Amino acid sequence: MKIAILSRNAKLYSTRRLVEAAQARGHEVVVLDHLKCDLIIEAGQPAIMYKGNLLTGIDAVIPRIGASVTFYGTAVVRQFEMMKVKSAVGSQAIVRSRDKLRTMQNLSRAGLGMPKTAFTNYSKDSKQLVNQVGGAPVVIKLLEGTQGLGVVLAETEKAAESVIEAFHNLKARIIVQEFISESKGADIRAFIVNGEVVGAMKRQGKEGEFRSNLHRGGTGTLIKLSRAEKAAALLAAKTLDLAIAGVDMLQSKRGPLILEVNSSPGLEGIEKSTNLDIASKIIQYTEALVLKKKAKQKQR
Ligand code: ADP
Ligand code: GLU
Repeated sequence: MKIAILSRNAKLYSTRRLVEAAQARGHEVVVLDHLKCDLIIEAGQPAIMYKGNLLTGIDAVIPRIGASVTFYGTAVVRQFEMMKVKSAVGSQAIVRSRDKLRTMQNLSRAGLGMPKTAFTNYSKDSKQLVNQVGGAPVVIKLLEGTQGLGVVLAETEKAAESVIEAFHNLKARIIVQEFISESKGADIRAFIVNGEVVGAMKRQGKEGEFRSNLHRGGTGTLIKLSRAEKAAALLAAKTLDLAIAGVDMLQSKRGPLILEVNSSPGLEGIEKSTNLDIASKIIQYTEALVLKKKAKQKQR
């Protein structure tokens, strides 16, 4: 098969691993920078130009779309879908997963646990916001943040109010969230491929740090998920229609609480923490998608 990895940089760990795994299974692989794809749109004849050439012969794409280029990146994925090329993760599902408010509403509707969270359109009543999620300490997060940047723990109500006001003055949209102290600076990441947890790690923040992000100096170790954690992670991915997902959860007294669901989850942290070959799982899933499509075509 010919598989395209949509990635801005062929040198990134996740991209390299996917290329390696696809080649090891006998596929032809290309890495395409989605921002360099030109979309040619006309009635019934969707096409993509890449560096001056018309793209042809691709059986499947594996999107690795960064949050900052969601708009164009997902348009490229959609164009491939229109060209009847299978995508390991659907364009619609990526778009939806990037809207944090909508994602939390959908997860809440599915009955999944999450830290109590308040969203606001720059409310002046910061006291109410803090009270609504149970009072200080609270976690305040920039809606557009990643890698733990823009995530603040406010220990007191006064501190929380100042931080909320400061962010609002900067016209930065935030969420205010109940602080889960019993997770003790750790969270868990479940990596899901095709309705199965293919690997899970616990990330522990460094001493004195409540954020467990690997980018903030946290360390990852292999864990076995409890039955409830597994069920929550699978339901979250299913609810968001993501065949490939990284589900982040906090362990709490009331069970697993979902923090976020990543539709282009990184492979480096999880593969190195667990010693598992997750890239091959993604390639196998992609193969199955293409084989299913070909079997359907034969039936016609
Ligand atoms: P980002 O998307 O920037 O990584 P997260 O929402 O995942 O932001 O938060 C970063 C880290 O901070 C999490 O991995 C977790 O360790 C910690 N954290 C986030 N929210 C809470 C919370 N409500 N209670 C306790 N710890 C939290
Ligand atoms: N590079 C990110 C990290 O290790 C991966 C993105 C993700 O999977 O959340 O935190």
